Amino acid sequence: MATLFERIIAREIPADIVYEDDLSLAFRDINPQAPVHLLVIPKKPLPQVEQMTEADKPLLGHLLWVANQVAAQQGLTNGYRLVVNNGNDGGQTVYHLHVHLLGGRFMGWPPG
Ligand code: AMP
Repeated sequence: MATLFERIIAREIPADIVYEDDLSLAFRDINPQAPVHLLVIPKKPLPQVEQMTEADKPLLGHLLWVANQVAAQQGLTNGYRLVVNNGNDGGQTVYHLHVHLLGGRFMGWPPG
């Protein structure tokens, strides 16, 4: 069964998409944790970082490149945070790999 994010890629579920290319999509998180909270996802249905193969290395690099492009597009000139949750202890809830892009406020450390 298709994950939620595959259904967003297929335009079966609406999302506020801010960036798209052949390999990836970026859209606003439905439950934002910061003034800017976007998700950058691969179009390839890779469930989590844990399941990446060596062949996925360029794709994951591309996601970081896109995140930085989108951060600039969103005016995050004072920094931002990228988060990738992996598995249960990482707090992952959607099993389609995604990079959270958070910005527009100071991010505390350590995270919860
Ligand atoms: P994670 O907990 O790292 O797996 O993150 C999943 C994220 O997906 C959460 O921040 C949710 O708020 C977000 N999310 C869930 N459903 C949607 C949706 N339909 N559109 C946009 N973001 C969503």
